[in-house]
Amino acid sequence: MKGKGFVRKTKQREAILEALRNTDVHPTADWVYQEVRKEMPHVSLGTIYRNLKTLTEMGEIQELCFGSTYTRFDGNPDDHYHFVCEDCGLILDLGLELMPELDDQVTQEIGCQVKSHRLEFYGKCFECLKKNSN
Ligand code: ZN
Ligand code: MN
Repeated sequence: MKGKGFVRKTKQREAILEALRNTDVHPTADWVYQEVRKEMPHVSLGTIYRNLKTLTEMGEIQELCFGSTYTRFDGNPDDHYHFVCEDCGLILDLGLELMPELDDQVTQEIGCQVKSHRLEFYGKCFECLKKNSN
């Protein structure tokens, strides 16, 4: 794998990864697109999507799917829990300790092999709470 095309592809991927590593907003693909475009004005949204998929498969980032709403991306590939605001879509990282024992409990309960789990807490963020009390 040599040549210009490969180099450019790698640079785009690095720019995407950097954009994600430098934020904690858990952005959408479109946000990443706008951010990378500041440095690489000719990058396409399709390229962004392709690279986000590749980075997810490589384990460099996480794809967070929230039911019917659009997918968000996390530059932190390590397991951690999130709080999600149901009103504004804010996603916060939680310092809550991981609970690997849950995997064993579920394995014992249903006899299937559990490898990992995701845990999200839903509600209203402080900003949305403020808005509602006015
Ligand atoms: Zn909110
Ligand atoms: Mn996160």
